[in-house]
Amino acid sequence: MNVLVINAGSSSLKYQLLNMEDESVMATGLVERIGEATGKKIYKKFPDTDAEAKVEREEEVPDHRAAMHFVVDMIKDAEYGVIKSMDEVSAIGHRVVQGGDHFKNSVLVDASVKEIIEQISPLAPLHNPSAITGVEMAEELLPNVPNVAVFDTVFHQTMPERAFLYAIPHSLYEDLKVRRYGAHGTSHKYVAKQVAILMDKKPEDVNVITVHLGNGCSMAAVKNGKCVDTSMGMTPLAGLMMGTRSGDIDPAVLAYLAEHKNMTIEEIDNMLNKESGLKGICGLNDMRDIHAKSEQGDEACKLALEMFSYRIRKYLGAYAVVLGSLDAVVFTAGIGENDDIVRSMILKDLDCLGIELDGEKNKGRISEAKVVSTDASRVKAWVIPTNEELQIARETVAVLK
Ligand code: ADP
Repeated sequence: MNVLVINAGSSSLKYQLLNMEDESVMATGLVERIGEATGKKIYKKFPDTDAEAKVEREEEVPDHRAAMHFVVDMIKDAEYGVIKSMDEVSAIGHRVVQGGDHFKNSVLVDASVKEIIEQISPLAPLHNPSAITGVEMAEELLPNVPNVAVFDTVFHQTMPERAFLYAIPHSLYEDLKVRRYGAHGTSHKYVAKQVAILMDKKPEDVNVITVHLGNGCSMAAVKNGKCVDTSMGMTPLAGLMMGTRSGDIDPAVLAYLAEHKNMTIEEIDNMLNKESGLKGICGLNDMRDIHAKSEQGDEACKLALEMFSYRIRKYLGAYAVVLGSLDAVVFTAGIGENDDIVRSMILKDLDCLGIELDGEKNKGRISEAKVVSTDASRVKAWVIPTNEELQIARETVAVLK
């Protein structure tokens, strides 16, 4: 059974075709800068043994329909394709960022599901509309193939009220659904399950803290396979310090800035989302650049690294207490997988949590699941590369069954 995974953003479309018999990737790629003068289309087929297997074109991609056309054309292309006809695609799994508290599981998409995703769009105005566009393009170009919506928020739907409610008038939750939803759920779910498998245990028998560190960063406390708390909030602005996002901040600062800097709500929102985090402290948001300058002695970059790691350590402490007992901490995504310096800054001197980092094992970029703590470490530290596409494809298969 072949599953096509679609991750439609406001100006991009990532895709992957997987053979779910052995969970292998058949083809993957990305269409970027949709709607701009020059777009970029990338297609890659597997096994990637020859240069011919990759197609890269810089040309205008006027809209998502054109992007989806490219995907459909390439996967069944006479020269580059991996299937002969669209009949060989059994289902399409769509990443949907926000499912509100309507969706407790991934679902088969029908008219009412689309309507609810649309209704929830104010909670994810940049993302949910693109997901609906992705579904509609799929319905148009692959009319007989079922579509499944896989929500980033679903994994966090098991949080208890005490964790997901904000301490503001309860009517705001009742009327407007203001609450913590969390994000990166597909990634947290994937690594939480993988770590249990790798530790030779059932997910319901382990307590783990999952640490997703990419451009966006979030953590989750996962008790017996279920998420009980997570650092992102109603939107992905809360929690950890990120590339350009502030993470947690005293909400009174917003009123203070409005009054003393004459900033509008839009300007403050833009600053917190796009000009803050690592970028706000040192002017850079790519971790590789920050390390390069930090090594040259740049004080602002050193401070940004200290702040970034310190915030994660605080959440580790909080979530260890939330869980009561802890079996493993798992790092994933761009920084989590590749950055040994940040991992060591986070995990140093954590006797209080029973974590002892192994300097040798932690060294370098890690591309396959690996323990980075010592054999004696009571709580194990792991690096597990995330695989959101595979998780979406697995969920899609599960829904169809
Ligand atoms: P996204 O959230 O957009 O999916 P990624 O998971 O790809 O992001 O992570 C992007 C982050 O990973 C960037 O901050 C980038 O600097 C960082 N990163 C990628 N490779 C390395 C590396 N070798 N060392 C340190 N950081 C890295």
